[in-house]
Amino acid sequence: MAIDPLMPVYPRCDVRPVRGEHCHLISEDGRRFLDFAAGIAVNILGHSHPGLIRAIQEQAATLMHVSNLYGSPQGERLAQRLVDLTFADTVFFTNSGAEAVECAIKTARAYHQYEGNEERFELITFSNAFHGRTMGTISASNQEKMHKGFRPLLPGFKYVEFNDLAAAKAAIGPHTAGFLVEPIQGEGGIRAATDEFMLGLRALADELDLLLILDEVQTGVARTGNFYAYEQYGIEPDILATAKGIGGGFPLGACLATEKAARGMVPGTHGSTYGGNPLAMAAGNAVLDAVANEEFLASVREKGERIRTGLEQFIGNYPDLFELVRGSGLMLGLKMKTESRPFVAHLRDNHGLLAVSAGDNTIRLIPPLVIGDAEIDEFFDKLSAGAASYAVTEAA
Ligand SMILES: *Cc1c(COP(=O)(O)O)cnc(C)c1O
Repeated sequence: MAIDPLMPVYPRCDVRPVRGEHCHLISEDGRRFLDFAAGIAVNILGHSHPGLIRAIQEQAATLMHVSNLYGSPQGERLAQRLVDLTFADTVFFTNSGAEAVECAIKTARAYHQYEGNEERFELITFSNAFHGRTMGTISASNQEKMHKGFRPLLPGFKYVEFNDLAAAKAAIGPHTAGFLVEPIQGEGGIRAATDEFMLGLRALADELDLLLILDEVQTGVARTGNFYAYEQYGIEPDILATAKGIGGGFPLGACLATEKAARGMVPGTHGSTYGGNPLAMAAGNAVLDAVANEEFLASVREKGERIRTGLEQFIGNYPDLFELVRGSGLMLGLKMKTESRPFVAHLRDNHGLLAVSAGDNTIRLIPPLVIGDAEIDEFFDKLSAGAASYAVTEAA
């Protein structure tokens, strides 16, 4: 057979990591990389965090998995902590971001249908959104590249331009159940919802009994310098999907909801075999032990500011390459004037710096949140060397 045993859906590069040390990855061939990709905003505690390792080892040796048919002291503890830290009253645990968004979509539909409003099933979603790769979550995005080959899509989504409040309002009709939106689009290129847009969606939802669902799979769990990014807008959602950072590298996601929004999620309506198992709960609790405190959040904001300020100075040296810096906390985007993919590959292959390309020719800088001053200095050294050698190559 000619097909790769690993189904070839990813264009994988030739870096083959076999070990992680804090903010660095070491590849099979011994190369060492500074990791500003962090497994796509997942490894928020870096790669060898003692607290996370210990929690997983101890739980694995005690009890790895039981069914959700039984009571869950581990799950109750993590759910209670999330409830205490956020707008939410109740939590459903999943194994991924897409599953968390799926649960959010089902919760929103059930909210209306539980009251007999069978016709209110449609979510208004936004251009260049990314919500995952299941049939439901690709249907929630307007991106043709994710639809191609997989039609028919799931009905019940209406696409509107991101940050266009008037268009969102105009799209509301008798079938509308709510809005699903990322506070800062990640895959879409680190593009933030404006205050006006987010507050406007909240106000429309309140006025018309619609649900505001936030996809904080990438922005959540301290990434932007707040525990969740919605705090920066001074609003609260009705439903929120979280994943990526919450397990620190262990597959874990969650759908958070208010009591009111979750009124349709009664026994027997939803489930997951693995979701919320004791091993995942141990990982989630260990992550919260590290990040769910004001001191840690302040450190993320402070490091984010330091990197942003440095980037703003740096891009002035290469006006032909870079356009601007955007984002919040340690979720930063460096928008290029040229294609971002070749430059990301250049940084990786020639300067040992890992970052991730995103939409709109933006380089995503999403390091572990535990990054220190020495690694930030190393980042700027590598980035500067990368831009200098790239500028030379480009000119040649
Ligand atoms: C990564 C991501 C998802 C999907 O998460 P998976 O764990 O890959 O299923 C959903 N929404 C956003 C905003 C994401 O960044």
